[in-house]
Amino acid sequence: MIPIAKPIIGKEEQDAILEVIASGQLVQGPKVREFEERFAELCSVEHAIAVSSGTAALHIAMLAHEIGQSDEVITSPFSFVASANCALYVGARPVFVDIEPDFFTIDPQKIEERITKNTKAIMPIHLYGQSCDMDAIVKIAEKHNLVIIEDACQAHGTTFHGRPIGSFGTACYSLYATKNITTIEGGMIVTNDSQIAERARLLRAHGSPRTYEHVILGYNMRLTDLSAAIGLVQLKKLNEWNSTRRSNAEYLTNGLSEVKGIVTPKIRENSDHIFHQYTIRIADRDNVAQKLKEKGIGVGVHYPTPIHQQPLYKDLGYSDILPVAETASKEVLSLPVHPALTKDELDYIIDTIARI
Ligand SMILES: *Cc1c(COP(=O)(O)O)cnc(C)c1O
Repeated sequence: MIPIAKPIIGKEEQDAILEVIASGQLVQGPKVREFEERFAELCSVEHAIAVSSGTAALHIAMLAHEIGQSDEVITSPFSFVASANCALYVGARPVFVDIEPDFFTIDPQKIEERITKNTKAIMPIHLYGQSCDMDAIVKIAEKHNLVIIEDACQAHGTTFHGRPIGSFGTACYSLYATKNITTIEGGMIVTNDSQIAERARLLRAHGSPRTYEHVILGYNMRLTDLSAAIGLVQLKKLNEWNSTRRSNAEYLTNGLSEVKGIVTPKIRENSDHIFHQYTIRIADRDNVAQKLKEKGIGVGVHYPTPIHQQPLYKDLGYSDILPVAETASKEVLSLPVHPALTKDELDYIIDTIARI
């Protein structure tokens, strides 16, 4: 079976973990601080705060920006459910805006019509490793005085017009096992706003600036030094892995260009796609996915149900009609693109699809 995702964790990571265990500093210690520094450099920002997951990062970002009851957060319905759920966690309301058909990211043209006096934030989601149209989004946010919280959980090292993703507002990353780099479970919040950074640090550890002093209601969302040690090793390999993903994507796109009925991924101008997912559009998707699995190719559907149509959201009274996202959810199919793929495997994927 060619897996859809393959975490690459080897000897260097093992050694790093053993070193931490021997040191006795296991949680939120020196490795976490070093990992935060390196991660801030990746995003060209002042502050990075390591947390226990991408979901925790999004949750803390909402709290740090004091988004809560009766506030609205504009976001995309075409994502993993954690993106929108974070608004629900703090009592706010996610407001869904349809996506751009070419890039699967929030359509800036449709944002302003959904802004109300309760809108507090825009949460662009850099889906599959590709940036949203940040020029347009920043312009709208400035005009309406809205906070930007980037869901960069799939976009480690992505740039937009040469500027790193994560530097446009407060941004949240996931370091889950299948992301482009991993700490197994883990997350990161990055920001240039030192007040937000300080609140985020308090929120992740029981609102505690000093041992047994608690100034706000906080949580336990800490990252361990074991995780950070793995993350430090992974971070060094990110650029190389991202470029291997890009060349794998190029190879797939060339190979599939002759196959009728497939739309290969489009790359936004002046932007850098890191191909967390290589996602094609194809009619009769479920049938093709089944056949590919039978032939030993691990494929994924990201995502089969847009968030506003999830039972949870229907129960909350959502009845939006968002045709671009709804069509995408029926047509998208992610193929393996990870850096551990061999040329033979890529050829096999292309040939198998062509034959189907
Ligand atoms: C992975 C992911 C998350 C959640 O991250 P976890 O680390 O799994 O909590 C949120 N949003 C998007 C777009 C993701 O891909």
